[in-house]
Amino acid sequence: MNACKAQSPTVRLKLTVRGAVQGVGFRPFVFRLAEELGLAGGVNNSPAGLFIEAEGPRAILENFLVRLEAEKPPRSFIQSLEAAWLDAAGLPPFAILPSATGGRKTALVMPDLATCPDCLRELGDPANRRHLYAFTNCTHCGPRFSIIESLPYDRANTTMKQFAMCPQCQAEYDDPRDRRFHAQPNACPACGPHLELWNPAGEALFANHQALLAAAQAIRRGRIVAVKGVGGFHLWADARNEAAVRRLRARKHREEKPLALMFPSLADVQSVCEVSPLEARLLGSSAGPLVLLRRLRPAETPASAFPIAGSVAPGNPNLGVLLPSNPLHHLLLTALQFPVVATSGNLSDEPICIDEHEARERLGGIADMFLVHDRPIVRHADDSIVRVMLGREMMLRRARGYAPLPITLNPQLWPPPARPVLAVGAHLKNTIALAVGGEVFLSQHIGDLDTEAARHAFHRVVADFEQLFEARPATVAMDLHPDYLSTKFAGEMKNVRLTGVQHHLAHVLSCMAENEIGPPALGVAWDGTGLGLDGTIWGGEFFVVTQDSSERVAHLRPFRLPGGDQAMREPRRAALGLLYEMLGDAVFTRTDLPTVAAFTQTELAALKTMVKKNLNAPLTSSAGRLFDAVASLTGQRQKMRFEGQAAMDLEFALADVKTDDAYPLPLLNKHPPLVLNWAPTIAALQADLWAGVPAGVISAKFHNGLAGAIVQVARHFGLNRVVLSGGCFQNRYLTERTVAGLRAAQFQPYWHQRVPANDGGIALGQIVGALRAPAISPPQPT
Ligand SMILES: [Zn+2]
Ligand SMILES: [Zn+2]
Ligand SMILES: [Zn+2]
Repeated sequence: MNACKAQSPTVRLKLTVRGAVQGVGFRPFVFRLAEELGLAGGVNNSPAGLFIEAEGPRAILENFLVRLEAEKPPRSFIQSLEAAWLDAAGLPPFAILPSATGGRKTALVMPDLATCPDCLRELGDPANRRHLYAFTNCTHCGPRFSIIESLPYDRANTTMKQFAMCPQCQAEYDDPRDRRFHAQPNACPACGPHLELWNPAGEALFANHQALLAAAQAIRRGRIVAVKGVGGFHLWADARNEAAVRRLRARKHREEKPLALMFPSLADVQSVCEVSPLEARLLGSSAGPLVLLRRLRPAETPASAFPIAGSVAPGNPNLGVLLPSNPLHHLLLTALQFPVVATSGNLSDEPICIDEHEARERLGGIADMFLVHDRPIVRHADDSIVRVMLGREMMLRRARGYAPLPITLNPQLWPPPARPVLAVGAHLKNTIALAVGGEVFLSQHIGDLDTEAARHAFHRVVADFEQLFEARPATVAMDLHPDYLSTKFAGEMKNVRLTGVQHHLAHVLSCMAENEIGPPALGVAWDGTGLGLDGTIWGGEFFVVTQDSSERVAHLRPFRLPGGDQAMREPRRAALGLLYEMLGDAVFTRTDLPTVAAFTQTELAALKTMVKKNLNAPLTSSAGRLFDAVASLTGQRQKMRFEGQAAMDLEFALADVKTDDAYPLPLLNKHPPLVLNWAPTIAALQADLWAGVPAGVISAKFHNGLAGAIVQVARHFGLNRVVLSGGCFQNRYLTERTVAGLRAAQFQPYWHQRVPANDGGIALGQIVGALRAPAISPPQPT
């Protein structure tokens, strides 16, 4: 048909569209658009929403996706659109298919939805009774997941029950022709929630719009304001004001981790960042996620662009960007007319605050003022984080706007369980999942289960999901690590069948489930750490997954991590472990190396005892730790301020480098489990360092070597499907390079889309693991 078709492989795009898309001419519109673009497939209605399957050249499908939203019928409204890119299935020419009438009508709890254009218009219309009203919503938009106490979704079962509607609101609510017909959070200034601005003592200084204007004024003057949004509190500061941003970092104990920015408009974002049509679609979608965007270089930046304070994202070529997604945020940004830092209202990695009294306590040392309201939040939902990679979205954190929408398991691959299955996730970036029939409801991001606050949140979410979806789990899937809070919790549950799923296998199964592929496949799980079946710390793993087994068939050569947990935060320790494997005792005198020079003599003496006597120096095959080690060896980073920082340094260093050169990463042996030997990598890297090769080139050669090694292992096993999972594949360069290498060698690569590659995606894999595996312990007696 055109040039695109020749270059672009045929794939299948599966879309689940929820919202006002039934009875408004949506199906004929989809049909016409698909026919115009020459796509195969079909569209049909079901109680759970509109399903579209379209097959054709990738580039044309991307265009289809963008036009679907841009040109949709005037009376339709998309509340949620989830896209999954799948293998082509040889679909017939595009058709409108009969509606799916039978089957169970799923009680779907919608996520919180960004403000719709109609409500936005009212907000700015001085003649409208909701002019400047921060809680405007309708059947198309507004809070859902964060206000629902129980099902069915009626006002009496939401936190809006305490607000009796005024006659005007009630009339809208009762009128089937009104766009607020049965809009459960319906409200107006006369009857609904209202704003207050509090000082840290909890005294109300201003109310309603005055409170909003005073909060804006405080931000303009460099103050930090805690703002109660839809899924919890944010901390806001003027993004242009270096002193304010530094103050926020110091008070929040967040030294270097990038801070999120909220811009007044898409045009303002475009003056600071590069925004593709897909990225623009995500920013403006009903989910309203935070999107990672590439910052424009100084030469590309228009003179009119807002100056962004250097400490927003130090040394980072990307920015995490949001657009306003609720009326309060719209009003604040309209008043400010400049971008703000809008970071989670929490202390370091604790869950986000949802209650104003709790916020005063927990954020009292951070915020100068609190912009609060009296609509209670039932459950927290952080901002979701999405990145566009290889022309499609990749979820890095699944929360507001997406949770708790289910991932539907393909029944041909994973038969729906007869009784509910709960998966409790891992330890870092924890999420849980509850499978009811073939639908897996994924929880919002809970966070690292290290703090008391996170533990409470974990317990709350488990109880909440069981209540919300009216499901008592018969089987509980968990990680094998006995010290994870989630594992301990599962172990204490009564009357359930327990299934342990190895951490990295869970990563692989999660990626297979969302890509709707079954065995056989080669799974690649590269991440920071997870407990292996042999008691060592795994993290650079390959599995052959067949119909009824999964075997670890290859891994990175193990090395020692002196200091155990401390080594997770100090790349120099991982590097010392590698060097010790290569050089033995001689390493401790090599103070010419940046890694060794980063320790004091006393520290070196202690480390020597650790590795020689095998005291608190566990073995690991972790790819994440190999990244850390390289950051240390090249002198880029010896200690980390946040998880993954060293790997980010390496990814950023190669931003403008183009080379196909790669360090060798050969196999040590010929029979599984194969061992990938990083020693030649490190030797070649050291030689480059001494020769003065730039850090970016070294980083590119390191990444290229890793990608090449994955292709080499894939060749050894010869399985067509290769599944990439684990936190390392959040790295764009590594993922793009590996996918390209696998494709060039005629393999079919799969990577994450709707579920995080990091430990936030583990729970889905645990569900699939439980469906595959026998129980590891008999049911407990009652
Ligand atoms: Zn609306
Ligand atoms: Zn009212
Ligand atoms: Zn992991």
